[in-house]
Amino acid sequence: MSQNLVIYNSLTGNKEIFKPIHENRVGMYVCGPTLYSEPHMGNMRTFINFDLVYRYLLKLGYQVKYVRNITDAGHITNSAGEDVDSIGKAAKLAQVQSLEIVYTFNRKFIELQRIYNLLPPSIEPTATQHIQEQIEVIEQLIENGFAYVINGSVYFDVRKYSEKFNYGILSGRKIEELEEATRTLNAQDEKRFFADFALWKKANPEDMQIWRSPWGDGNPGWHIECTAMSTKYLGNKFDIHGGGMDLKFPHHEDEIAQSCGSFGHNPANIWMHANMLNVNGQKMSKSFGNYFLPLEIIEGTTDLFDKAYDANVVRFFLMQAHYRSTIDLSKDALTAAEKGYTRLMEATSLLSKLKTQDTSSINVAQLIQSFYNAMNDDFNAPILVANLFEAVSYINKVNDNLATISSDDLKRLKAEMDSFVFDVLGIKASSNNCIDRLSPVMELIINLRAKARENKDWATSDQIRDALSNAGITIKDSKEGTSWS
Ligand code: AMP
Ligand code: ZN
Repeated sequence: MSQNLVIYNSLTGNKEIFKPIHENRVGMYVCGPTLYSEPHMGNMRTFINFDLVYRYLLKLGYQVKYVRNITDAGHITNSAGEDVDSIGKAAKLAQVQSLEIVYTFNRKFIELQRIYNLLPPSIEPTATQHIQEQIEVIEQLIENGFAYVINGSVYFDVRKYSEKFNYGILSGRKIEELEEATRTLNAQDEKRFFADFALWKKANPEDMQIWRSPWGDGNPGWHIECTAMSTKYLGNKFDIHGGGMDLKFPHHEDEIAQSCGSFGHNPANIWMHANMLNVNGQKMSKSFGNYFLPLEIIEGTTDLFDKAYDANVVRFFLMQAHYRSTIDLSKDALTAAEKGYTRLMEATSLLSKLKTQDTSSINVAQLIQSFYNAMNDDFNAPILVANLFEAVSYINKVNDNLATISSDDLKRLKAEMDSFVFDVLGIKASSNNCIDRLSPVMELIINLRAKARENKDWATSDQIRDALSNAGITIKDSKEGTSWS
């Protein structure tokens, strides 16, 4: 199956057949969070999307080394082109040390990954533990003539680099356009050229974290950590480099420049960019103030929703969009996802109860193949979900004696559905078990309520219904009896 996997490469703008550098092994680096605050649901979407990629590569049988960094130091270029130490800023505000900020939010991030069922990466290196490696790449860049030292800081020389390499190869930005922008270069700015970016910043007296370097005390620029850490753990050339779409420029463009400038080539064969989680059409972001925290959504404490949604439902909602498309977070979308999720869970639990016949009334092998085809086409989760719902309709028909399934086909369908739903989409299997385990308890409660109603004890009957409703369980009375969901 694996030779059929096709991935969209942001670098070439084409879908390409995936061929790892080393047979059966994949090296993947994804830019992780900057832990100056709690990750919002938008950040989580990107990490969930790469978790999906990781899970499918594992499903195909690859041995994957998945490296995702933690940014716990460094100057990040903001939209105004200024170099800002966001972690130091947060630390000063809270009157604590930088690493206290980082550790607080890393604990949160670990908890969120557990709740949203993300597999842990193979290695999670941090910038502060790799200062020496960053210094070494910077030294190489200076030696190769692509970086210059000025007043204790080091900058990447974009114009010099452009004489030999193509700055803008990933983002499509043209150096001439950047040239235009030099007019806005601040007179006091020590950079030679507007697009030059910091590799090392000379320490300021108020800096929270300072390291020794050949250029004096200071701290690293933001982009250099990813070059140092990705190549340290995956080699100078690896298979996949990923991150959110908004990292394409300048972060990933600058990573490519750093690698070409120091090692002579682009570090990754495939560059993957995950698209944004939006709210009312606008990117969810701390700076716009339109963000929701992953915990708020599952606790039902946001202004946007008046109820809590299971983390599985939120994850399932995110799978309704391809990773390269935007998706809008809304109450309607989550409610629709909740319905779909419940239908899917009910069908997967029916799979262990279906009666089999001699033959199947549909081509089950073809149905299973459609799951692979969807994911092999650039990890197309929404198509996978649609194909899983084809299976759901079929399962329901078999259950209603409107279709048949053979025992071999049932075994295969159950194995593959469980694998795609739980292992690939990352839905937590325990919720499914939860429905199974709750069934006898619910039967008992429904019987007790029926008895209360027989005795015209409406107060008890209502009390039971309200208590269940508060726990997210709805009961429905009809001619056929009482059902719950
Ligand atoms: P940061 O901690 O700001 O470096 O962001 C961590 C990751 O989240 C990066 O890959 C960003 O591209 C990504 N990201 C930020 N905002 C969003 C959003 N609204 N939707 C999806 N990904 C996002
Ligand atoms: Zn990065």
